[in-house]
Amino acid sequence: MSEFLLHDEQAAQVYLDANATTPVLPCIAEVVSHTMQICFGNPSSPHISGIQAKYLLEQTRQNARKVIGAPNGDILFTSGATEGIQTAIVSTLINAKNHTIKKPVLLYGATEHKAVPNTLKHWNSVLGINAELLAIPVDSNGILDLAFISDHINNALMICTMAVNNETGVYQDLATIEQVIRSQNKSVSWMVDCVQALGKQALALSDTSIDYAPFSGHKLYAPKGIGFLYIKNGSAYTPFIAGGGQESGMRSGTENLPGIAGLNKLFSLLLDKSDNTFKSVAVLNSYRGQLLNALKNTFGEITFNHDFNHSVPTTLNFAVNALTSKEVIDLFDATGIRVSGGSACSTGAKRSFVLDAMGATDWQSENAIRLSFGPAATQAQIDQACTRISSLKAVLEANCLIVSDSASPRQEVCALGLTQFRHQGACSWLYVSDDKSAVVIDPIIELIPRFEKIVKTQQLTVKAILDTHKHQERTSAVSLLSDVLAVNAANEQTIKLGNKTLTTLHTPGHSKDSVSYLLKDDETAHVDYCFCGDLILPAGLGNTSLEGGSAAQMATSLQLLATTLSDNTVMCSGHDYQQCFAINWRTTRAQTALLSPLLNKEITTDEFVEQKIKSEELHINSDNQLCGYVQAAVQTRAKQLNYQQAKTFLTKPNVYLIDTREPYEHSAVNVGDIFSAPSSHTLNISLSRMANAVVQNQLNPDHTYILLCRSGSRSKIAAANLQQLGYPHIYNVEGGLALIN
Ligand code: PLP
Repeated sequence: MSEFLLHDEQAAQVYLDANATTPVLPCIAEVVSHTMQICFGNPSSPHISGIQAKYLLEQTRQNARKVIGAPNGDILFTSGATEGIQTAIVSTLINAKNHTIKKPVLLYGATEHKAVPNTLKHWNSVLGINAELLAIPVDSNGILDLAFISDHINNALMICTMAVNNETGVYQDLATIEQVIRSQNKSVSWMVDCVQALGKQALALSDTSIDYAPFSGHKLYAPKGIGFLYIKNGSAYTPFIAGGGQESGMRSGTENLPGIAGLNKLFSLLLDKSDNTFKSVAVLNSYRGQLLNALKNTFGEITFNHDFNHSVPTTLNFAVNALTSKEVIDLFDATGIRVSGGSACSTGAKRSFVLDAMGATDWQSENAIRLSFGPAATQAQIDQACTRISSLKAVLEANCLIVSDSASPRQEVCALGLTQFRHQGACSWLYVSDDKSAVVIDPIIELIPRFEKIVKTQQLTVKAILDTHKHQERTSAVSLLSDVLAVNAANEQTIKLGNKTLTTLHTPGHSKDSVSYLLKDDETAHVDYCFCGDLILPAGLGNTSLEGGSAAQMATSLQLLATTLSDNTVMCSGHDYQQCFAINWRTTRAQTALLSPLLNKEITTDEFVEQKIKSEELHINSDNQLCGYVQAAVQTRAKQLNYQQAKTFLTKPNVYLIDTREPYEHSAVNVGDIFSAPSSHTLNISLSRMANAVVQNQLNPDHTYILLCRSGSRSKIAAANLQQLGYPHIYNVEGGLALIN
């Protein structure tokens, strides 16, 4: 067996990301394979193999006509919808080269798939059309503003709208849009992106004045790399790909016959009234209802980001009120449920432009989850999805992610010591002592529900809620959180937390009011943690060019800190742009430009000030790091292991597996089992608890640790982190859990 071992639990994935792509149905895969091996002829060949291939090609075209209600017009096979979109736009713009409109515009829906505005922009510029691109606004339900269309349609060279939105499932009333367009402009070119409508809505394209409609196979159980484009009779057309003259010269290149055969099978399923592969709208509605209930019962407060009355039933876009989308996706992924954040085509994007266009709140837009199933979903699959979603309730309760009304939670996120909470680049810190006294430092508004749940579920006594300074990029959450938790936020200089004491040190520099909080062990007088706000960030010093900042004061503050900290003091900053998670004073000095030279008196304070100001002028404006410039991520030297190598290593003494995912992910699947590692050698130290693990000596520098996470990237960061902190025997599982199944 290959190293990609199929683990039973992992293998049984629940795939709820059909709007991104779908698996190929077995019966479709069969005909695709048959076409590749047996009926593999080139439709242009004159011999029997070619004739058979040509027959299949034309039969598929006829079936496409039936499926989309287009007895007239052209159907061209393409590589997918993006090619169809190019073809439609290029054809229109070439035809519009000699237009006489004074101020021409190109209209497109504000929630259109990025393939549309980006293609318009590209060819508008390449072809020198220089029309103005105008996004048609949508209302809070995602419905296009008809008055806007009406106002601009007479100056439009083209209008692009979509039948069904890929993020929300919101559908448009095409008949009404058509009425608005054609009542004023009979000839304007109109493209309707029908990718997400196929199989979910009845289409009758020849009954409309739509000029172009692109479709894509992989969104509906056919393979990737095949799609088709409908073109109305008489609409402008320029071949996008020239060559051997295939497709009547309209799209050259040998046809993708296996893909076309896949479409053929798909169409025959859609057209066969006696076949029940594709479910009726009523059945799909009942699936949506089931999933909705499972989500509500599991997560409690959820905001749905679209109105179900205006959406196809196969898409549910929502935000969990108290959890970030990253937490929800990680949680889902850990238990084998695949969903997407916002749009799968724009992963990495922090917000959803679709939800922004609909006027959603920041929380909704930044934390949107898209759960989508295909119209061939079975009752058994939906039941399994609901069971799997519901199974998360216990995990959420055990991790204080929702308030538990059952047994007391035991997981590490609620445990004693220090936990980091992050929202984008900003960090909040929660320290809980043995006697359950707690302090929250630099709280972030978005995390208030989390803190509330943890404090209530764990029955913590919050002694103080503190800011290290007035953060300039956000409103302070101190008084809001104090109200929510009914804490008298007495800002005493000294706070007792079990056998440790928190003291305040004035450390201006980033701002006038900046302080650092030092958490000292009462017995040893060692400063375990230094909450330094934005005075020092991992691998960088805080910005001093904001209001109240002073590089000279920063120099004095750094010198003062140096007299109180020890090499092993863990530094807890207000921002962590570099994703360091745990860094001690020794590493901070080694990594931070200007710091050691200042402390070692290799440069004077004046030289520090001069160089600091210079480096800020150079970096701060060019970077998105308002609170301080940090250097590029430190490269890890941790050796990479594949699954089998890691498994073999784990049979040796003093070798431990560390799951660096959050406890709620760790508890969803037993990773020790997957690696056949004894539970005593399987640790869960998430990145958010790394600083705590270091201070509490949970790791032994003589032992070997193999780090693991979902994709291998989080654990890679943790590996670099631990090596810097003086743990030399660190390995990383390359590709993480993702490459094991
Ligand atoms: N249009 C919509 C609405 C889509 O959802 C997608 C795919 O995400 C596309 C266009 C692009 O399709 P393809 O992947 O076939 O190029």
